Amino acid sequence: MDILADRLKNIPPYLFMQLRDKIRKAQADGVDLISLAIGDPVEPTPAYIIEALREAVLDPANHQYPTDEHKGMLVFRQAVARWYGRKYGVTLDPETEVLALNGLKEGIHSFIMATVNPGDIVLMTNPGYPAYRANIHIAGAEAYDVPLLEKNRFLPAFEEIPKKVCQKAKAFFLNYPNNPTGACADGNFFSRLVTWAKEHKLLLLNDNPYSEIVFPADRRQSLLQVPGAKDVAVEFNSLSKAYNMTGWRIGMAVGSDKIIHAMSRYKENVTSGVFNAIQLASVKAMDAGDQDIENMLTIYQRRRDIVLRVFDEIGMCATGGGGTFYLWIAVPPGFSSLEFTTKLLEEAGVLVTPGIAYGQGGEGYFRLSLTVPDDRLKQAMERIRSTIKRG
Ligand SMILES: *Cc1c(COP(=O)(O)O)cnc(C)c1O
Repeated sequence: MDILADRLKNIPPYLFMQLRDKIRKAQADGVDLISLAIGDPVEPTPAYIIEALREAVLDPANHQYPTDEHKGMLVFRQAVARWYGRKYGVTLDPETEVLALNGLKEGIHSFIMATVNPGDIVLMTNPGYPAYRANIHIAGAEAYDVPLLEKNRFLPAFEEIPKKVCQKAKAFFLNYPNNPTGACADGNFFSRLVTWAKEHKLLLLNDNPYSEIVFPADRRQSLLQVPGAKDVAVEFNSLSKAYNMTGWRIGMAVGSDKIIHAMSRYKENVTSGVFNAIQLASVKAMDAGDQDIENMLTIYQRRRDIVLRVFDEIGMCATGGGGTFYLWIAVPPGFSSLEFTTKLLEEAGVLVTPGIAYGQGGEGYFRLSLTVPDDRLKQAMERIRSTIKRG
């Protein structure tokens, strides 16, 4: 009996698997491997957020099914609305325009299942976060890849998407600040995008977990700042990256009440919500955590400088935009992204992500994550320097 459903067979293999054997071998050989491949902050969640969780955990009222179940507690949704108001000047109705997510990634799945029919086209950027393509396949829809090119500052030239494709398309997945390229969008881009989406009757989803991780910080943006964006758009955000809370699994969908309502109908059949204690601690984080975010930005800025200085010295080009805790770097001439990544793994004991892991559009680049302690990062960069010098 073949247990695996076809919908899973259609998901393209995660290219990192190709490196897995080599990683295992290096570890078995006792190599001191430094991984710059994973985007997961090493610094702990700020102490007062953990304290808020501890307090909430002791209250038996929080041991029952989450309040307001799949929608999220009203106090959580209100905190999200305050956060968007304070940070981006975006007004949200906590009752109809905010939804709690069991981590942003769950939202990607729920959005597709709630709004896209089998056979519909969903536009996504290439390179792009792999979960978009996987969930488009799971829903029986078809992904249409919109390239992100360096000459366009890794912004999609959406006006060039053929009319026929737009007519069949239901939604467009974007992600600015962008993983993996680090590119940021500006207000003008978002504004043109919203006008175009309305013209073509397309839903927009901006996946925005790096909204706070922008250099310089005054360039932080939300798609919902565009007047009328809420007619067609949602933005997904998350406490994972900004507050070092990846393991907590909590995020939010905000924007179009119609999309939020559709997602809510899907979610009520799938999840009973996020543990109250985690939601209550997240309220604390959103209300009182601005300084912690600034502290993390200082750390990431320092690490960016360490990396960029070495690449500059050895004549390699970081194409970096000003956002996320990743750097996107062109591989030297003559290498594919997988070949160069393998060389760094085998000769430097440093693991970075081959660009191809994010789609064909990532070929020619690799991604380096700044979520490692400074001393390990410095060590990794010295090893990369020696490897490149040896040729
Ligand atoms: C990290 C990341 C996510 C996942 O966020 P969670 O809230 O931890 O699920 C989603 N999209 C992008 C682009 C990411 O980099």
